[in-house]
Amino acid sequence: MKKKAIIIGAGFGGLSIGIRLLSEGFDVSIYEKQRFAGGHGQQFSKDNYTFDMGPTLITAPDIINKIFNKAGKKIEDYLELLPLDPFYRVFFHDNSSIDYSGDSEQMKTQMAKFDKNDAANYDKFIEKSKVIYDSVITDGLGAISFDKITTMLSLMPKAAKIGALDTCYSNAKKYFDDFRHRFIFSFHPLFIGGNPFRVPAIYSMISYLEKTGGIWYSKGGMKSLVNAFVQLFEELGGKIYYNSEVQKINIVKQKIDSVIVADEKIKADVVISNADINHTYTKLIDDEVSRKWSQEKLDRSKYSMSAFLLYLGVKKKYDKLLHHNIILSPRYRELIDDIFDNKVLADDFSLYVHVPSKTDSSMAPEGSESIYILSPCPNLSANIDWSKMGRIYANKIINYLEADFDLIGLRDNIEVEIMFTPEDFQKQRNSYLGTPWGLEPSLLQSAYFRPHNRAERIKGLFLVGAGTHPGAGLPGVMLSAEATEKSVLEYISK
Ligand SMILES: Cc1cc2nc3c(=O)[nH]c(=O)nc-3n(C[C@H](O)[C@H](O)[C@H](O)COP(=O)(O)OP(=O)(O)OC[C@H]3O[C@@H](n4cnc5c(N)ncnc54)[C@H](O)[C@@H]3O)c2cc1C
Repeated sequence: MKKKAIIIGAGFGGLSIGIRLLSEGFDVSIYEKQRFAGGHGQQFSKDNYTFDMGPTLITAPDIINKIFNKAGKKIEDYLELLPLDPFYRVFFHDNSSIDYSGDSEQMKTQMAKFDKNDAANYDKFIEKSKVIYDSVITDGLGAISFDKITTMLSLMPKAAKIGALDTCYSNAKKYFDDFRHRFIFSFHPLFIGGNPFRVPAIYSMISYLEKTGGIWYSKGGMKSLVNAFVQLFEELGGKIYYNSEVQKINIVKQKIDSVIVADEKIKADVVISNADINHTYTKLIDDEVSRKWSQEKLDRSKYSMSAFLLYLGVKKKYDKLLHHNIILSPRYRELIDDIFDNKVLADDFSLYVHVPSKTDSSMAPEGSESIYILSPCPNLSANIDWSKMGRIYANKIINYLEADFDLIGLRDNIEVEIMFTPEDFQKQRNSYLGTPWGLEPSLLQSAYFRPHNRAERIKGLFLVGAGTHPGAGLPGVMLSAEATEKSVLEYISK
C-alpha cells in the first residue's frame, strides 16, 4: 500500500514537496484554497496586459532543476529560461544609477565612477559571499531540517569565523564607502522579507548566488514556471483539488489522523502544510493539541514587512526602464525602520518596478508596457486602513513616477490599473498580518529557531515553504521541500 500524503496549499513549496514524495512512491493529493496553483506566484491578464502578481525574479536555476531531476526530468523539457543582463537598474535619489550585473568588470567600471576603493574591493566582497554560499548551499545547510539545537550550535563557531553573523548592512559597510554600493550589496534580504540592518550576513550569499547563477525570465512570466511544476506533479500521478480550503487538521493522541475539507474527513499518513505558519498552527489545529508554536509564542514572534502592489497597463514605452528596476528614496535605514519597527506609512517610498514587456512581447499590446510596482510597507500590525489608503497611495506613486521620475504622460496612458494591498494577502492567501514572507528571517527566527520542517510534538505533521527552514523566496521554499522530504522519509521508515 502506498503511503498517503496530503499537502495543504499548492504554492511552490507544496508543489515541490509533492513532486519529491511522488518520486518516492507516495500517493499525493494537494488541497488548494484558491482556483489556481502557484500561491504568491499567480498571474492575471486584463485587456491584453498580463501581470505576475508576486515573484518575478528567477534565480538559482540549479535549485529548480534539482526538483525536476528528482523525478528523472530536466527543467528545459518543461520551460524556456532566458538570462537577463543586466540583472536590474538601480536608480538613486541624486539621478545616478547602476546597472547591476553579474559581470565583474562591468560592475567595477561603474563603481569606480563613484569610489575607486570600493571598485577595488568588489572582488573581495564577492569572495566573502562565496565563502558564505559554500557553507550554506554547497554544504547543504539549506536542505536539512534543523530539528536539534545542537546542529545549530555546532555551526556557530564557523558562522562567526566567516563573518556570517554580522548584519548584511554592516558586512557591506566593511567593503564599501559609497552609499550606492552599500545599498546594492546589502538590500537583498528585502527580497525575502528581511531587514538588511538586522538579518545575518548569511544572506549576503545572495550576491554570489545571483552572480554565478544569473537572473532569469521564463517566457510567459512566472505562470509558466508554476505550470511546469503542475504538469510534472500531475504526470507523476499527483492530484490537485482547487477551491478546496482545508478547514482543520485532525490530530489524535498527538498524531496525524486526517484533514477536513468541505466538511469531509480525508485520512492521511502524513500531512504537509504549505499554508502560512500562523494559519496552520492557530486556525487548523485545535487548541487542546500540545504544540510548541502556540498562539502566545506566535504572537511574540516578529513578522516580516508587507507590500503594496500596483499593476499598470500603459499604452506607452519608457526607454528609461529595464526589465527589473529599483527606484530609491534618499532614506535607506530610516525608511526600513519606518516599515519594520515604527510601522508607519512614510511620505517617501522605494519601489521595485517590473516591466516584463521589455523581454516578452506577449505581456502587453504592441507599443505598450505591463508595469508592476512594489512598495515595501508595514504589515497589518500597523494602523493603516488600506481600504481608504490604497487609492491615495497608488495616486502618490503614480504622481511621483510621472513628475519626479520623468515617466512623462504616465497617468494619461494608463489603460489598466489594479492594486493589491496587505489586506488582500491576508484575505486571499491566509497570510497572517498580510505578510507573504512569514516570520522575519532574523538570526533568532532562523534555522532551529524557525518553525521546524517536522512539526514539533505532532507526529506525521510537516511544514514546507516560506514559513519554515530555510525561508522565503523561490530557492528557499524549494530547498525547504528537500529538507521536509528527508524528515518525511525518516518518519515513515521508523
Ligand atoms: C510580491 C512578492 C514578490 C516576490 N518576489 C520574489 C522574487 O522575485 N523571487 C523570489 O524568488 N521570490 C519572491 N517572492 C517570495 C516568493 O514568492 C515566496 O516566498 C514563495 O512564493 C512562497 O511560496 P510558498 O510555497 O511558501 O507559499 P505560498 O505561495 O504562500 O503558497 C501557499 C498556498 O497555500 C494556500 N493555502 C493557504 N491556506 C490554505 C488552506 N487552509 N487550505 C488550502 N490551501 C491553503 C494558499 O492559497 C497558497 O496557494 C515574492 C513574494 C511576493 C509576495
